Amino acid sequence: MSLWRKSVLFIANRPEVERLVRRYGMRLARRFIAGETLEEALSAVHRLEEDGIHAILDVLGEMVEDEAMARAFAEEIKKTVEAFATLPYPRYVSVKLTQLGLDTSEELAKELLGEILTLAQKGDVFIRIDMEDSPRVDKTLSVYRAMREAGFENVGIVLQSYLKRSEADLESLLPYRPNIRVVKGAYAEPPELAYQDLPTIREKFKALVEKNLLAGNPTAIATHDDVLIRWAKDWTKAKEIPRNLYEFQFLYGVRPALQRKTAREGYTTRAYVPFGEAWYPYFSRRIAERPENALFVLKGLLKS
Ligand SMILES: Cc1cc2nc3c(=O)[nH]c(=O)nc-3n(C[C@H](O)[C@H](O)[C@H](O)COP(=O)(O)OP(=O)(O)OC[C@H]3O[C@@H](n4cnc5c(N)ncnc54)[C@H](O)[C@@H]3O)c2cc1C
Repeated sequence: MSLWRKSVLFIANRPEVERLVRRYGMRLARRFIAGETLEEALSAVHRLEEDGIHAILDVLGEMVEDEAMARAFAEEIKKTVEAFATLPYPRYVSVKLTQLGLDTSEELAKELLGEILTLAQKGDVFIRIDMEDSPRVDKTLSVYRAMREAGFENVGIVLQSYLKRSEADLESLLPYRPNIRVVKGAYAEPPELAYQDLPTIREKFKALVEKNLLAGNPTAIATHDDVLIRWAKDWTKAKEIPRNLYEFQFLYGVRPALQRKTAREGYTTRAYVPFGEAWYPYFSRRIAERPENALFVLKGLLKS
């Protein structure tokens, strides 16, 4: 799995491949992203709500290299928060700190995230800080802690079960009573830092969910993996974990029937709805997750 993912991400990072896919690939990317505009994303929110699925809006964009761009993205995220706040649904927005200038300066990311959280508080919007690749984990956790210490409650973080450090990170976060989304992890990480085999990644995923839930903290179980979903349903039932403490999260366009089924069964179910013009890196990670997705793109490109 890991070699496959590394190879796809390596190929996808080549500029000529990006040019080709960006030119012909929007139609294909639409399987995984709601569109390029906020209006398209809000239409997706309505459609999901018809099936009892709540949306997590995500303005696509990451790893920005200058302050002006980070500020421009922060404005787009604020517009999204404001628009979402007018809808009669649970509101939830995900952000990436490199989109808010983390690579330029941690202070800039803190300033912009603070502004977003202030606005989000007014509109009763929850903000999730996505977790990016391993060189950014320390800084991401540091910004999260700073926000909590500044008194913001409407913010959560993500831990990746493939990272060997995540259990220790969770331990150090527990005093904050954190709202955590647990994921496997989507980046190509080296064996020194990340488990590479699925059974271990699954066991570590379970350990993170168990620990955070047994500490009484809200936990999002974000996976399309039947083994983990079945386990989570059984384990939470056996331990009598209240349903309002945990939820299932999925990616837009991935296993939609499973998403509807989970919502019908009465579990809080959310779909991560990415939108915007900067869709290429997100799309590449989704392709790298499954050989079938790469074939789907290749076929589409050949047809184009
Ligand atoms: C709501 C949400 C938020 C996330 N946030 C982050 C984050 O902040 N940081 C981060 O590193 N990662 C994040 N991820 C991605 C995550 O780390 C995994 O890369 C991704 O979810 C794939 O792992 P999996 O456990 O879902 O399933 P896998 O073990 O990859 O697959 C299980 C089954 O799910 C289906 N499936 C999985 N992926 C796809 C796909 N792309 N297309 C079609 N079918 C698929 C297949 O049927 C597959 O057999 C997020 C995932 C979700 C659902």
